[in-house]
Amino acid sequence: VKRRILLLAGGQSGEHEVSLMSARSVLAALPRDQFDVTPVVISPQGRWLPPTETARALETGRAQGGGDLVLHRAASAEGYDAVFPLLHGPMGEDGTVQGLLTLAGIPFVGSGVLGSAVSMDKVMTKQVLASAGIPQVAWRLAVRREWQDRPGEVGARARELGFPLFVKPANLGSSVGITKVSRPEELQAALDLAFNLDRRVILEAMTAHKPRELEVGILGNDAPLASPVGELRFDAEFYDYETKYTEGRATMHIPAPLPPEVAERVRSLALTAFRALDCAGLARVDFFYVEETDQLLLNEVNTMPGFTTTSMYPKLFEAAGLSYSELVTRLVELALERR
Ligand code: ATP
Ligand code: MG
Ligand code: MG
Ligand code: MG
Repeated sequence: VKRRILLLAGGQSGEHEVSLMSARSVLAALPRDQFDVTPVVISPQGRWLPPTETARALETGRAQGGGDLVLHRAASAEGYDAVFPLLHGPMGEDGTVQGLLTLAGIPFVGSGVLGSAVSMDKVMTKQVLASAGIPQVAWRLAVRREWQDRPGEVGARARELGFPLFVKPANLGSSVGITKVSRPEELQAALDLAFNLDRRVILEAMTAHKPRELEVGILGNDAPLASPVGELRFDAEFYDYETKYTEGRATMHIPAPLPPEVAERVRSLALTAFRALDCAGLARVDFFYVEETDQLLLNEVNTMPGFTTTSMYPKLFEAAGLSYSELVTRLVELALERR
């Protein structure tokens, strides 16, 4: 008997388009002899689009139209065996949708409420991982009200870290809203931009040198496995939105050319992080490697990483011998296993 899967895509975050791209790949890859898949696209306004509008959104990459704020049938255990919430960023990757599905009693792919919420927020992630002894850059938190009422204090926090530094919305992805701030004069614009997107903003010290960027995939629930380590190379100040999504701007190297001991450290730190954050199903753990000092710093954990057929996460497991369609099938099995 076929499993009935609800595939959620789009969503209300700045990563709406990225999610639609991922969803097209997953939709094409879930084996039809095993799964009966219903896609539902969520518009940027939070409307769960009916079938015709959903199909059009997947085809054109633009979600338009009406629909319910939360699809009633989706928010109940009736009708589906599992949900694949292929949503990136707030209102999807951050525990909100996971809470809805938990209440409804429907198994779903990926981390639960706790792992999703903590991993989405870069400050909470840093706090939890620091207590697990994982090396990271120095950082400071600022909240919007402080920036409005006491900008001098926020500026002082930035100066403690030194320049260049990174200013990021605490809850977002795809580098949306991130600025590399090289001089104090650039700080105001960077903070205004980040606070437009989030109430919480993280200031991060830059690594001592331009780092190498390593990523590793984790797959599993309570006995997770780490993929080979991958590396991203690009010609840009940092791995920004354009570099991420413009064809040909970045290259993936799998496995990353690294001493085996360093690769092993990456995998082991990633597994420690996955467990410390109570992740489940999958995660892509991103690192900075400062070659000059042989320093490995954990940057962040993505609980619903980019998922097109050419994205890093599926490519990492392909290198481990798992095809894209085997991988999505495994993720659904892991969701059902967790009940
Ligand atoms: P993703 O799309 O992977 O979810 P994100 O939006 O969560 O990304 P980050 O991974 O935190 O953003 O940062 C984006 C990029 O900015 C990094 O890949 C790196 O190129 C650069 N960067 C961020 N923080 C630092 C730092 N502290 N030092 C050096 N480079 C940094
Ligand atoms: Mg991220
Ligand atoms: Mg992300
Ligand atoms: Mg990242």
